Amino acid sequence: MIPFNKPFLTGKETTYIADAVNSGKISGNGIFTKRCHTFFEKKYGFQKCLLTSSCTDALEMAAILINTKPGDEIIMPSYTFVSTANPFILRGGVVVFADVSALNPNLDVDKIESLINERTKAIVCVHYAGVACDMDALLSLAIKFNLFLIEDAAQAIDSFYIDKLGVHRPLGSIGHLSTFSFHETKNIISGEGGMLVINDAQFAERAEVIWEKGTNRSAFFRKEVNKYGWIDIGSSFLPSEITAAFLFAQLETLELIQTTRTQHWLYYFNQLSSWAAVSGFKLPVIPKYATNNAHLFYLVAPDKAHRDKLLEELQRAEITAVFHYLSLHSSDYYIEKHDGRELPFTDHYSSCLVRLPLFFELSKVEIDYIIATICKINF
Ligand SMILES: *Cc1c(COP(=O)(O)O)cnc(C)c1O
Repeated sequence: MIPFNKPFLTGKETTYIADAVNSGKISGNGIFTKRCHTFFEKKYGFQKCLLTSSCTDALEMAAILINTKPGDEIIMPSYTFVSTANPFILRGGVVVFADVSALNPNLDVDKIESLINERTKAIVCVHYAGVACDMDALLSLAIKFNLFLIEDAAQAIDSFYIDKLGVHRPLGSIGHLSTFSFHETKNIISGEGGMLVINDAQFAERAEVIWEKGTNRSAFFRKEVNKYGWIDIGSSFLPSEITAAFLFAQLETLELIQTTRTQHWLYYFNQLSSWAAVSGFKLPVIPKYATNNAHLFYLVAPDKAHRDKLLEELQRAEITAVFHYLSLHSSDYYIEKHDGRELPFTDHYSSCLVRLPLFFELSKVEIDYIIATICKINF
């Protein structure tokens, strides 16, 4: 059986975990946490980073930081994971779903303006498959209507938005706040893990407090205050040093991981392009303003029947492929709360998109077998 994902280990994880354990300091915000923060701040120019226990946690921090209040409206895609929405619901916010684009499963920016009103507080964009949303368009909406822009960059590590001047801006560096995931299904992993990126200085101090259970403990350890106490709401959002040590081993190998995944991705793309031209299936579209971090390789079937047939034949050939996402506006939890608008492209990807196996150790023999299996199917 070819699995859909296999977590890649660099070999250094257990060495660094042993270092963390032997150092005698294994709670959060220690040496490895700082190393990870510095890595990201240097490599991508993020203003301030805070590791969290998950991307979900980072999104919860974002919902608190923008002061989400009951009735505040947050615009986001329905074609995403529940964690994009839940943090805002937890604070009493109302989630307003916008449709995704015909081009790829990212927000269709033209559908957003009509959803904005005086209750709208923020737009959360999701860079699906690590491919950038149209950030200039989203930024101008955010500025025009005085909204916060939050990037759910869970899948978007080491990916870029290319602006009109050709400047490559790292995803996660553009919104007021951004969130990453290091869940074992992502490119860079720590089992469970995530990170909040703070690009707007107004949030920097408070983010640290919320991260440390609502206390000014971080400032105390920097000797900026002479006692620490409870000064705001917060939670225990920081991961232990064991998680940070694992993550740091991965970060040291980021380039190799990215090059290898990209090779697999391009191989799929090139080998399947003539098949796609005749089969009616579509390959991923990377807009001119985006780079590809090879997080996912997916196919979009012309209809659900073709999608189901593909999944069935792959399963018969012992290849694990999976669909994505059961859209949030049709979920048991939200269907009654959704305002009833149709989201045709969201529905389209929900019933037609298939993700193929893509992981570091996938071999060329395995990819060739997957491709041959797909090309043989009689639709
Ligand atoms: C993986 C993912 C999350 C959740 O990440 P966790 O680290 O598991 O909390 C949130 N949003 C998107 C778009 C994701 O892909």
